[in-house]
Amino acid sequence: MQTNQLVKFAYRDLHLNQVLVHQELEIGTHQGTHLSLGSLEIPDREIRFVRTSGNELHLGWQDSQGQPQVASMIVDRELRTIVDAIHYGYSRRVFEQQLAEAAERGLGHQCRDSVCPFCQAKTLTLDSYPWSPQVYCRFCDSIHTTVAVDGIGQTEKDYRICPKCHMYSRPRRFTIGYFWFVWFHAQVNHRVILCCNDCMRPEAWKMTMGNLPGVLGMPLALTQLSRVYRDAIKKGPFQGLDKGNRLLKRGEVEKALEHYSIIVEKHPFSAGVLYNVARGLLARGDQIHAEETLVLALQNCVNYQPAERLLAELRAEMEVT
Ligand SMILES: [Zn+2]
Ligand SMILES: [Zn+2]
Repeated sequence: MQTNQLVKFAYRDLHLNQVLVHQELEIGTHQGTHLSLGSLEIPDREIRFVRTSGNELHLGWQDSQGQPQVASMIVDRELRTIVDAIHYGYSRRVFEQQLAEAAERGLGHQCRDSVCPFCQAKTLTLDSYPWSPQVYCRFCDSIHTTVAVDGIGQTEKDYRICPKCHMYSRPRRFTIGYFWFVWFHAQVNHRVILCCNDCMRPEAWKMTMGNLPGVLGMPLALTQLSRVYRDAIKKGPFQGLDKGNRLLKRGEVEKALEHYSIIVEKHPFSAGVLYNVARGLLARGDQIHAEETLVLALQNCVNYQPAERLLAELRAEMEVT
């Protein structure tokens, strides 16, 4: 992505500080260093947070009077593209700020930068941070491997923590829709959720059964159902990850570990997979091995925030007991 590239996207239900200001579908743009939503212009440099949930986009920024502002909207398509475009400028502002702070502390000469190959966000790390073969991008939540591993390429781009089951997996957007008739009027209720295949399975079945009385909803229900089964991870370095996650959720830790070990054999640096293993061990009450696994995950990916957080929580709990 380049700084002056024009990105167009359609949004609706725009809320400004929780007040609905525009309901109809509208075209928004991101170009150069700012985002335009109708007459509202938001400079990337003033952005304080970017959050997504399903097909919702939430942005926090500081206006010209220094007042905090929040905009929320629905973006049905191209959500990822627009978020990456915003992150490009936003991450660079954060980077400059961190660099200045490090310089003030006399650490300026120890700073190094890394650019995420998937969203192009720029992050700063200190030289004193130990080197690891993987790097985490907190902007797009992906992990990328910096050393050559057969077949890894762009694969890791789609893998991150599923917002529903909190496991490292391949979450995607699914539309959940129910259609029914009240007298002769068709009623529609649909929403978009972001989750992994495994979390979507029960939802897809529920939707298929729920849409049985009306024919209208069946094509959508069947499309989502077939996506869940057809697009399971059947090849590539993460083959078997969803199967392992499913076993782990059922408490079958040993069987899940067998699946994970096949992945780790192919792709030796897998902080995300090790994070899942640690969660499985914790569910079984095995804190000692969970701690060891999280330490290993951080040796693979030194700045992997989900592992850092889980390790901190676990150590605090171990101290108490
Ligand atoms: Zn990224
Ligand atoms: Zn999930």
